[in-house]
Amino acid sequence: MRKRTTVCSHSDCEEPLQFAGLCSEHYEEHQEKRRRRDAALQALHQGQIDGRLPDDQELREELQKLRCWWDRACLSVNHHVQDNILQDEAPYALEWCISLAQEIVVSERASRAGQPDSGAFTSTREWVWKRFSNLQAGYMSNGVKRPAK
Ligand SMILES: [Zn+2]
Repeated sequence: MRKRTTVCSHSDCEEPLQFAGLCSEHYEEHQEKRRRRDAALQALHQGQIDGRLPDDQELREELQKLRCWWDRACLSVNHHVQDNILQDEAPYALEWCISLAQEIVVSERASRAGQPDSGAFTSTREWVWKRFSNLQAGYMSNGVKRPAK
């Protein structure tokens, strides 16, 4: 059944429309996601978080390493050339980079504010780096051997 168009388009939400087809709460959530993504993209493209390099040395190095993967994946996707490590997973690699960069932004901001790091950071970090290390070892990102051609 089609939802009435006078309510929020978020599933299971019946709140009245505010902006862009969403209620004010879901619109705010949507904006927050976009801000997180934009900050991650700035980190990936320019190596900067809120206008400057990460102060934290480890985060700076991690971001640098991540940006190498980002560049490879962008090159492959934008120019439709297969990268010999990422192969057909380049489009996914872009999303992994963005997810991890979002976490790096959160960590760096916490560090700048003198706050403790959030726990979620570690699992995303491990997950993404595991995928890249599988690829680097010549496997698919999930660790499975590539089918013979
Ligand atoms: Zn809503």
